[in-house]
Amino acid sequence: MTTISTVAVLGSGLMGSGIAQTSAAAGIRTIVQDTSETQLKSGQAAIAKSLARFVEKGKLSAEQQAATLAQLTFTTDLAGAAEADFVIEAVTEDLTVKNELWRELDRRCGPATIFASNTSSLSVISMAATTSRPDRFLGLHFFNPVPLMPLVEVVRSVQTSPATFEQAWALVLRLGKQPVAARDASGFIVNLLLIPYLLDAIRALERGVASTVDLDTALRLGAGHPMGPLTLADFVGLDTLARSAEIMHEEYRETRYAPPALLRRMVTAGFYGRKSGRGFYDYRHDPPVATDLGL
Ligand code: NAD
Repeated sequence: MTTISTVAVLGSGLMGSGIAQTSAAAGIRTIVQDTSETQLKSGQAAIAKSLARFVEKGKLSAEQQAATLAQLTFTTDLAGAAEADFVIEAVTEDLTVKNELWRELDRRCGPATIFASNTSSLSVISMAATTSRPDRFLGLHFFNPVPLMPLVEVVRSVQTSPATFEQAWALVLRLGKQPVAARDASGFIVNLLLIPYLLDAIRALERGVASTVDLDTALRLGAGHPMGPLTLADFVGLDTLARSAEIMHEEYRETRYAPPALLRRMVTAGFYGRKSGRGFYDYRHDPPVATDLGL
């Protein structure tokens, strides 16, 4: 098994910056690349802020903070990725964008370099097949916020070799995360089960089963969930939820994956949840109040 000494993280958005932070914190030299200088800077700032918070809470020493920062290199130049033994891609969820990047990386990286995508909804094989190394290509699905969420789904496509899978599994453990093995089927494990649940909660609201607040309270206090499904849907982002549901519906053709009309109407209205200030709750109020959806 080759020792992984350098990881390249492509994309320094929400997920990429978290993955890069986790990799650097594990003592691995980490190169972060993004095409946008602005995004690269904001990713770098997000990492600095997150590490500072860990120090404040006493979960990280000032030495560990400095050592983590010293492992990180930020660049807009893809050439840096050629030095990596392991590439983790966390760019925009768009197959054309991702595959253009994979083809370029395939040309630049050595033949032993392993490629991993953090995609949430695209099939791993649809990317692997555009490279000359589908056997050294797999999915590594992290969860947001990456520095805090312990799970990583390790996704094997029909062509991923057992050796690649083992290397990736070992890397996840080295990052201090818990790996689980998943097949290359839309939704992997978590979203396969979570998305229909969130959609069911929206359908229950649509049908007038209960109010927004009561649905959330019921699942929190009756099922012991840390947050209710409508609060969680707002947190995930209603546009993201609707898009993931559509992709899963296309793959499985089962109505339970179909985005409910209410969700589609809310996305049309620009109600994307927490990030846009309004979803099932209105975050312009403190504390947030249930949005009047005219139901
Ligand atoms: P984001 O929009 O925050 O970040 C994407 C970044 O990719 C941006 O900084 C953008 O400038 C950069 N980028 C675009 N094209 C590029 C290219 N060709 N080369 C280098 N950088 C490029 O998105 P995100 O939420 O971090 O999601 C990234 C990936 O992670 C997606 O595949 C998404 O499905 C997946 N994912 C997201 C979540 C989540 O909760 N947001 C969870 C798990 C997985």
